[in-house]
Amino acid sequence: ESEKQTMGFQAEVKQLLQLMIHSLYSNKEIFLRELISNASDAIDRLRYEALDKPELQEHDPDLKIRISFSPENRTITISDNGIGMSRDEAIAHLGTIAKSGTKEFLARLSSDQKKNDALIGQFGVGFYSGFIVADKITVESRRAGLPASEGIRWESTGEGDFTVEKIDRAQRGTDITLHLREGEDDFLTNWRLKAIIRKYSDHVSLPIQMLKEEWDNESKTMKTGTELETVNQANALWARNKADITDEQYREFYKHITHDLNDPLSWTHNKVEGRTEYNQLLYIPKEAPFDLWDRNKRGGIKLYVKRVFIMDDAEQLMPVYLRFVRGVIDSNDLPLNVSREILQESRDVKMIREGSTRRVLTMLEELAQSDDPAKKELYTTFWNQFGQVLKEGVGEDPGNKERIAKLLRFASTHNDSDVQNVSLDDYISRMKDSQVRIFYITAENYTAAKNSPHMEIFRKKGIEVLILTDRVDEWMLSFLTEYNEKNLASVAQGDLDLLKLADEEEKKQNEENQTDFKDTIEKMKTVLGKKVKDVRVTVRLTDSPTCLIADEKDLSGNLQRMLKAAGQ
Ligand code: ADP
Ligand code: MG
Repeated sequence: ESEKQTMGFQAEVKQLLQLMIHSLYSNKEIFLRELISNASDAIDRLRYEALDKPELQEHDPDLKIRISFSPENRTITISDNGIGMSRDEAIAHLGTIAKSGTKEFLARLSSDQKKNDALIGQFGVGFYSGFIVADKITVESRRAGLPASEGIRWESTGEGDFTVEKIDRAQRGTDITLHLREGEDDFLTNWRLKAIIRKYSDHVSLPIQMLKEEWDNESKTMKTGTELETVNQANALWARNKADITDEQYREFYKHITHDLNDPLSWTHNKVEGRTEYNQLLYIPKEAPFDLWDRNKRGGIKLYVKRVFIMDDAEQLMPVYLRFVRGVIDSNDLPLNVSREILQESRDVKMIREGSTRRVLTMLEELAQSDDPAKKELYTTFWNQFGQVLKEGVGEDPGNKERIAKLLRFASTHNDSDVQNVSLDDYISRMKDSQVRIFYITAENYTAAKNSPHMEIFRKKGIEVLILTDRVDEWMLSFLTEYNEKNLASVAQGDLDLLKLADEEEKKQNEENQTDFKDTIEKMKTVLGKKVKDVRVTVRLTDSPTCLIADEKDLSGNLQRMLKAAGQ
């Protein structure tokens, strides 16, 4: 039984291997992430089983992963002191695919190489990804708790079959040795391996160790020394308890992931449990990035799955109008090899996005509504940097429209300044008794708005008007037609409210005017003909003799101007 046995791979494995080796993998380096992730899983499993059976820890309780390489032998070895594999387990786990959906996956493969590449990514390559860079893989392992004589060696060239034999192995756990293919020698340097580990596995919560390089005086080169160093941070900040993390650590982590020199403006850190489980640590920067308006700009969220880095800029995790949010989301449910395509369709991702959106809005509300002047001030900073982007949410996110509307800030005639600091609630609290609508004016700039003839009556009556001058405002207003059961109305539209707000004297005057000017109006209509829709006597003007207004349902004058300028 101890001698070497040759066994065939399951048909599905053969298919997958063929496919993988011939796929031009654009990032071959992911093999290391996969193997480190398996090592980390194996250690997690040991940890779990040792809860009941502490003897499984043997004399080796320091759980860690070790990466070594040999330029002479052209090998890379990934070692762990995790649960290990028995002979049967090696045959089962490294010779078959147990994953659900394997058949479906293989059935979807076609002669289109590009589509296949994407599919493989979605399916998850796992252990077999080693064959992307290796033409032979040797696995030596011993399951925790089995005697040293029960070690195994598994070996394969990734073609049709593999061999298994018994070996003596003192230490539990697994060594996976990749014999690199011709042309893959790039991976055989200390700095390259370190860089890959830092890129993908920095926050694997176990230490990943390598031998330090040392200056060799004889050969006058750097050589692999004898001292071990931990290459990754080995600590997933976001997975720790809030209570154990200082503000300073939160700030440092923000700088680490964003390379921003400023401190963050604010952050929110949550462990979400329930139908889909994830950790999120989300930051709002103090300053808008220079490319905030670049439509091709990618998102700022790093996606992890079970502490393993998956991708940067996971734009599906945050709506576009929150594209300034930076941080980490670590899912417990997504597959490790989740691709951007999968993210687009995943229900887990949808729930994560919705949950994260709510958290960001809550964070903003807490600043905006705070009694603490310092926090309020932070909201002002936020609004000045990102307010225009947040406005996009009114149209983009119908489900959160009310919450976003509450966060909006406008310039207003009440303050007589172009500073945007009046909320819709502020406005409503100052509305006149007989006033039913929220009035606004859109214009190219604050001065133009103030000098508009449409404003005369509002000034005279002391009715507050919000002044909207941002590019996005007209578009936003087409979605924001009411707030808190009050309609928003442009000062340039309709006369209804103005009559309601008129006093008895003015009402009487208006009625008289309607009769007195009947003939004049008729004449003007004839002269102007099709150029206007209607000519009316109004109460709205105090100084100017006439003004143009838009019908309630028509485009406002400002929007017409903008569309014209845009060539539409
Ligand atoms: P997955 O990790 O999704 O299960 P993989 O192809 O990466 O798929 O690994 C297949 C299986 O091989 C694992 O589920 C595990 O049982 C076994 N395995 C791989 N690497 C190790 C390891 N370092 N220690 C113990 N078992 C391992
Ligand atoms: Mg795996």
